[in-house]
Amino acid sequence: MLPRAYLPLSRRMFVRTAAVGTAALGGLGLPGCGGPASERVDTLILGSGFGGSITAYRLAQAGHRTVVLERGRRWTVSTPGEDVFSYMSPGNIDMRSTWLAEQQPLPGIPPSRRMPLYTGVLEKIYGNGIDIVCAAGVGGGSLVYSGMMVQPPQDYFDEVFPDEITWADMDATWYPRVRAMMNPGTLPDELINRPEWTATRLFLEQAQNAGYEARRLLCAFDFEAAAREVAEMNAIPEMLSVGSYIFGLNSGAKATLDKSYLGMAEATGLCEVRPLHWAQVIRQHAEGYSVIVHQIDEMGNVIAEKEIIARRLFVSCGTANTNGLLLRSKAENGLPELPEEIGSGFGNNGQHIKARTNVVPDAMAAGFGSTQAGPACAMLFDHDNRIAMENGPAPISGATLIGTGQGIPSGRGRFRWDATTGKVTVDWEASYDAQAAEAATNIIAHLNEVNGGEPIGLGLDVSITFHPLGGCVHGQGVDMFGRVNGHPNLYVVDGSLLPGVTPLSNPFWTVSANAERCLDTIVREDFGASV
Ligand SMILES: Cc1cc2nc3c(=O)[nH]c(=O)nc-3n(C[C@H](O)[C@H](O)[C@H](O)COP(=O)(O)OP(=O)(O)OC[C@H]3O[C@@H](n4cnc5c(N)ncnc54)[C@H](O)[C@@H]3O)c2cc1C
Repeated sequence: MLPRAYLPLSRRMFVRTAAVGTAALGGLGLPGCGGPASERVDTLILGSGFGGSITAYRLAQAGHRTVVLERGRRWTVSTPGEDVFSYMSPGNIDMRSTWLAEQQPLPGIPPSRRMPLYTGVLEKIYGNGIDIVCAAGVGGGSLVYSGMMVQPPQDYFDEVFPDEITWADMDATWYPRVRAMMNPGTLPDELINRPEWTATRLFLEQAQNAGYEARRLLCAFDFEAAAREVAEMNAIPEMLSVGSYIFGLNSGAKATLDKSYLGMAEATGLCEVRPLHWAQVIRQHAEGYSVIVHQIDEMGNVIAEKEIIARRLFVSCGTANTNGLLLRSKAENGLPELPEEIGSGFGNNGQHIKARTNVVPDAMAAGFGSTQAGPACAMLFDHDNRIAMENGPAPISGATLIGTGQGIPSGRGRFRWDATTGKVTVDWEASYDAQAAEAATNIIAHLNEVNGGEPIGLGLDVSITFHPLGGCVHGQGVDMFGRVNGHPNLYVVDGSLLPGVTPLSNPFWTVSANAERCLDTIVREDFGASV
């Protein structure tokens, strides 16, 4: 087995060749000269989250064959309640929660015992001034998300998006296209009125008392399946329905991409998904782009190194990892002419997590005695202060409500490839979104003032984002459809195209609608067929 430790690729290949000799290389299927086995494909997609899955499906629909490389493993819930994903409550978190790290990545949960390294569903990326949490596995963010679907308000959308991408066009065509595919619903009355949804119900009531617009959101979630389970069992065990949704949901009620775009792409027979295939570096090649790939086992050990040469290459690794891969490729001279702007324009979506406790005088009487259920599916809007706040139900006890603000950062950070650690990192300053931070704090204070309650830290008030966006922003080294300037047939299609924020909203609907918009043009103009 090859080691997991990072080395710049050219040096690693030299070291490995010298150390293991040609017989062992032959065992890996590598030619004796030290180069990895190579394969040619027409269109290669890196990453199977929203950007990658939409790319695969729209290309397949137009008759084009693709190979999708996904660094994480496949996760399939065949029977509701199956033990597929990690539990989320403290003490029950296991290695399936975390991408190749010994500690789980969520803030607000006491440090767990050290876990063996495993290709789990959530990765934490450490930055300078902010950390990022993002997904790993077939289906990307759809494995871990809450499915919240909300469109940014038009005025704020227009403020941050380039003129060429209009809210009217997105609203008329691209948002509805995604909605039709994800088939969302809203939390039904029969569930919200149960004690397990006390947190959600109170969040909405108290927000309205305080004068905010507050409502249940569309969610890419099968609430009918959840309601059926609850009716049958008259209870919500943690592994079922809605409880442990962030590390993946064992009920199967979440609308993951294998049930929509990606599954439909595979069903055409034109899309091949290869899990546990981790793209390391991209190099310009006479025939297009050469990608060096590590095939890994579930513990993250490298079991083979391969080269795939693609005529067309889509990078859809999610914001942080797309930027990391491109910047590493530039640093190691694979893409020496990569535009200077790549890596800049990063935003945290103005995200700040806050909590209130003692929000009712008698927690048990209010219903807080039951484990609070998810998914996050309710939001309040404070348009004047440029922020929205979602309710984040979590497996915690007591009359505590967690609210995650999504504001509008005024400054932008920058991704860097750190050759010393072999990891992507990001530079960020608190001043870039001081207004959003203050607005989130003020909402909590106002809710407490009107309804009772007090702020509580819970370790949540750290600089972290689950919504990294930007780095390859439209018009900044990448055109309005994701084509990288000066690099024919190299595309970026994922959250890194967006301008660091989807104002007052969670990003996946906008990431996906924008991917639909890009693919429509790319397929028509670059592939020569209509979607
Ligand atoms: C816990 C959590 C909850 C969230 N909840 C919501 C929500 O309710 N609503 C909402 O709108 N948004 C939510 N988000 C955000 C949403 O998930 C992202 O905005 C969305 O997934 C971004 O899509 P993407 O295509 O950019 O990347 P992703 O969906 O992250 O997909 C990228 C994929 O690329 C793979 N990859 C990375 N590097 C490589 C490589 N080198 N080689 C091969 N594969 C690679 C990754 O493993 C991943 O599967 C949530 C995010 C988190 C972390």
